[in-house]
Amino acid sequence: MAAYEYETHEYDVVVVGAGGAGLRATLGMAEQGLRTACVTKVFPTRSHTVAAQGGIAASLSNMGPDHWQWHMFDTVKGSDYLGDTDAMEYLAREAPKAVYELEHYGVPFSRTEEGKIYQRPFGGHTTEFGEGPAVQRTCAAADRTGHAILHTLYGQSLKNNAEFYVEYFAIDLVMSDDGACTGVVCWKLDDGTMHVFNAKMVVLATGGYGRAYFSATSAHTCTGDGNGMVARAGLPLQDMEFVQFHPTGIYGAGCLITEGARGEGGYLTNSEGERFMERYAPQYKDLAPRDYVSRSMTMEIREGRGVGPEGDHIHLNLSHLPAEALAERLPGISESARIFAGVDVTKEPIPVLPTVHYNMGGIPTNYWGEVLSPTKSDPNAVVPGLMAVGEAACASVHGANRLGSNSLIDLVVFGRAAAIRAGKVVDPETSNAPLNTASVDKAFDRFDGLRHAKGTVPTAELRLEMQKTMQSDAAVFRASKTLAEGVEKMTAIAGKMDDLSVTDRSLVWNSDLMETLELANLMPNAMATIVGAEARHESRGAHAHEDYDKRDDKNWRVHTIAHVDGPKVTLSYRDVIKDPLTTEKEGGIALKKIAPKARTF
Ligand SMILES: Cc1cc2nc3c(=O)[nH]c(=O)nc-3n(C[C@H](O)[C@H](O)[C@H](O)COP(=O)(O)OP(=O)(O)OC[C@H]3O[C@@H](n4cnc5c(N)ncnc54)[C@H](O)[C@@H]3O)c2cc1C
Repeated sequence: MAAYEYETHEYDVVVVGAGGAGLRATLGMAEQGLRTACVTKVFPTRSHTVAAQGGIAASLSNMGPDHWQWHMFDTVKGSDYLGDTDAMEYLAREAPKAVYELEHYGVPFSRTEEGKIYQRPFGGHTTEFGEGPAVQRTCAAADRTGHAILHTLYGQSLKNNAEFYVEYFAIDLVMSDDGACTGVVCWKLDDGTMHVFNAKMVVLATGGYGRAYFSATSAHTCTGDGNGMVARAGLPLQDMEFVQFHPTGIYGAGCLITEGARGEGGYLTNSEGERFMERYAPQYKDLAPRDYVSRSMTMEIREGRGVGPEGDHIHLNLSHLPAEALAERLPGISESARIFAGVDVTKEPIPVLPTVHYNMGGIPTNYWGEVLSPTKSDPNAVVPGLMAVGEAACASVHGANRLGSNSLIDLVVFGRAAAIRAGKVVDPETSNAPLNTASVDKAFDRFDGLRHAKGTVPTAELRLEMQKTMQSDAAVFRASKTLAEGVEKMTAIAGKMDDLSVTDRSLVWNSDLMETLELANLMPNAMATIVGAEARHESRGAHAHEDYDKRDDKNWRVHTIAHVDGPKVTLSYRDVIKDPLTTEKEGGIALKKIAPKARTF
């Protein structure tokens, strides 16, 4: 057994992650007087949320009529009827409150002439239950919305005495023998010391796992660490086969050009200069949802109408927009286009390609952020002491496809909900349960095994193999043959985790070891994704299956539940929650409005 000395820290709540979700939860916990720690592997304001450009959706009606019921309808339809209806109602209803709270905390939103929060159109956001024109629902701070939110929430959390543990890498959860979470084991990156946090509630807010793929808009730190910890604790992941490709990653570099660019009037063209989205989505054109636009682009390229010498990408045009509007509303992406594509957006189109952007799947939760471990008798069974929020979680409000600007609102609505719930279930007066030392030792054993790994495959090599396989076999379009090959390849790749070679054995700033821990987390994410995709014999949202090209509500309106153990994935299914929180009589949405129908735009 590996012997590591460690320091123990006791809190009411430990939040792992300081992105938008983690910080909103931390702030909400600390505001209620709970002793709250926030552990993060990067400095809070370097979390991937900082890169969010376009904005945050809420039906404020600042630019024209809007209602939360319309927002809810769009979210239900956008999810391709895989989202949980109670959670989607909660999201749309609470969104305006959560945005006004952000405003009062100090987020510097862009303004209208009258001084109200500025809102822009985004894909899939409509009026009149999908019958009316596109709505301006996405609140923005120019094209740096995530940056503004993170800085504000970090400042407010400090003001409320939350304690930050920065550049601490969470390795594994501490679980009691009866299945409750009681803490988390961490490695302090800059001095190599070990720390065990003992808490009444652990909140995972560790973000997505875009880096399981070769080309992604997400930061290199988006390695699905929380999902990995949950899988190792024997708990399931949900709907992992749904991976969103954003239509406009910069060709080659992969960095994002926000959908706000199309919201402000930008449009896509093929090699014939045609605005082809008019053909695929006559009503909403370039502002159809992402899965739809990404597929349309891929079809144009496949049919020989891609641009560039290889005919392998598409153009995004902004040069018809007034230069002042570009400078005011889209300064960040004008800069990205210059640096990463060598393009002056006032004169030339930007070369773009669908790029991995967001993970709809994650740790299953209810709409209070409590982690679920579904059983046959109780599909909504809660894991005591454990919550998950943000991109790591699957509440599920995005179902099979997330609408643009619905993630930032998910972070703050459910970060806030988790804090409200913790205020009820965490009693600051009681003492913490003693740590289960067997669980702590298990975490150190795994850590030590990777630290001294003496196999033959370097971490970077295995990671690349995984990324390339996921990119080619679990892509925008999928087919039985490539998925089956992908599962076989990925099973072999995951098997090589036992043959890793780590050369640096030190504990101080050992990036080789950190990347190895991250790879160990990416692997169960990738496995659950490709195995879940192979098993789902239908097309829904981001899962476009060429051999089963229709949605099948009779057999497949169910969440995939994946238990991952090394290279082995065991699947089961759980019903989608179909009932909203309030009835039509109580002011809620009419059930017939949200009944599944064909998704056209
Ligand atoms: C380029 C880009 C632009 C986007 N634009 C928008 C937009 O305009 N609107 C919108 O709604 N959505 C947007 N999204 C999506 C949205 O930004 C993300 O889904 C969201 O920011 C994720 O937030 P999070 O709080 O869940 O996680 P993150 O912001 O990714 O933060 C994760 C946190 O977890 C910590 N962490 C992770 N692992 C560990 C570990 N092992 N130990 C300790 N700490 C750990 C990290 O340090 C970090 O603090 C965008 C995404 C990208 C990539």
